[in-house]
Amino acid sequence: MLIFLDGVGLAPDDPASNPFSTAETPTLNALANGHRWLSETGIQHSDRATFVPTDPRLGMPGRPQSASGQATILTGLNIPQTIGEHYGPRPNLAIRSILAEDNLFKRVVARGGTAVMLEAYPPPFHDAVNSGKRLLSSYQQAYAEAGYKLFGESDIFSGDALSVDWTGEAWRAHLGYEKSPVYTPIEAGRKMVELSRRATFAFFSHWWSDTVGHRGTLSEGKALLELFDGVMAGALEAWDDDEGLMIITSDHGNLEDLSHGKHTENDVATVVIGRDARAFASGIRTLADIAPRVERYLFEPAAL
Ligand SMILES: [Zn+2]
Repeated sequence: MLIFLDGVGLAPDDPASNPFSTAETPTLNALANGHRWLSETGIQHSDRATFVPTDPRLGMPGRPQSASGQATILTGLNIPQTIGEHYGPRPNLAIRSILAEDNLFKRVVARGGTAVMLEAYPPPFHDAVNSGKRLLSSYQQAYAEAGYKLFGESDIFSGDALSVDWTGEAWRAHLGYEKSPVYTPIEAGRKMVELSRRATFAFFSHWWSDTVGHRGTLSEGKALLELFDGVMAGALEAWDDDEGLMIITSDHGNLEDLSHGKHTENDVATVVIGRDARAFASGIRTLADIAPRVERYLFEPAAL
C-alpha cells in the first residue's frame, strides 16, 4: 500500500513555523526511529520501518508542484526534466499523455495484479469530472488509465472506501451528510489496511495536507499531523510486516513550513514499513525511484 500525502516535506526544527516540531506524534516518530520528521533527521532505521529523505526537485529549478511530482511517483520517470518544468496542480497535456501511455497502475494490471484507490469522492466531484469541468489530478488519472473508476458516495456508505480525511468527519462537516460513517483515527487506520488487502497494489491519497500548507494555521497543521499519527497507529496495529510493504511519501514540501503559503523546495519523507523495508528503501533517492521499486517488489521481489 502506498499512502500519498500531498505537500508534506522535511524542514528544520522550528516551533514557530513547522508543525512537526510540536505536534504529539509518537507513532510517526517511532517510524523514524524515535525522531521527529525534520530535515535534520536523515535516514533512520527502526524495527519495522526505514525513513528516507527523498528529493522532489529532480534537478529542475523552482518549487516542485503536484502534477509533475505525482506523475513522477507513479511512472518512475523524471517528469519535471521530461516536460521542462515543475507543473501543477492539475496535469497539463504533456503529463496526461505520459500517464495515459504508462504508469504504475497500468503495469500492475498488465502483470496480472489488481489495484485499488481507497478514498472516495463525493457526487459534485464526479459530476464536475464527467461534465469536463474538472481535470483529474495525476494520480487519479493514472488510476483511471488502468481501467478503474474512483469510488463515490455509495462506497463510503457500504464501507468499501474511506474519506480523504480518513475518519469521514469531512463528509458530515463539509459535505452535509448526516449519517455517513465516521471512524476514530485508529479505526480508520485499521480499516485502511483491511481494504488494502483487496488488491495487489493499494493507494490512499490525502490532499488536505497541501491545503493546510497553503492556507492553514500552525494549530491546524498540528491537528492534522496528530490525526495522521492516530491513523498510522491503527494501520500499524493491523498491518502484518510479512504481508507486504506500506509506503508513505509525498510530492513536494508545503505543510512543514507554515511561515508562507507556498510549496517548499525541501526533501520529502518516504517511510517504508514491513519486513523488506530496508532493502526497498536502500534504492530511494528521488521520487522517480519509487515506482520501479514497487513494481519489482510486487512481481520480482528477489531482484529488489
Ligand atoms: Zn499545492
